[in-house]
Amino acid sequence: MRIGYGEDLHALVKGRPLRIGGVVVPADEGEQAHSDGDVLIHAIADALYGAIGSRDIGYHFPDNDPGCLNLKGEVIAHHAVGLVRKAGYEIGNLDCTVFLQQPKLSRLIPQIRSSLASILELNVKRISVKAKTNEGFDAVGEGKAIRAVAVVLLEKENEK
Ligand SMILES: [Zn+2]
Repeated sequence: MRIGYGEDLHALVKGRPLRIGGVVVPADEGEQAHSDGDVLIHAIADALYGAIGSRDIGYHFPDNDPGCLNLKGEVIAHHAVGLVRKAGYEIGNLDCTVFLQQPKLSRLIPQIRSSLASILELNVKRISVKAKTNEGFDAVGEGKAIRAVAVVLLEKENEK
């Protein structure tokens, strides 16, 4: 078995869509980024890369590479899952938390989980998404940023 951990943070700015796990969430501001800024997918991809010891998103998709401009979260996720499966592993389960002051995400959690299930080609029962505010503290609590963390367990076919 392997375990991986990933974390990401983006500033929130006007005029950008707020993307969380492949879902565009209705909001006044979205993630500032060179890529599409999907904070949750970035955290998950880093957890997947980390679990197989394959560096991080910035290594695979440099943010000074013009080819990575507006890069879709789905493309990064497919790349990370591809490396995981190539290494002979399958995702056992994935547990994530999104920190966002507003809007409240709780009613969107089922949609975000099913979006991730489809992007990662994984049973939705193996995916947990939790949402928290930052209780008003630091940049996330002041509504200036969004943060996500993810933990993933990988299993080899013969370890199941
Ligand atoms: Zn990011």
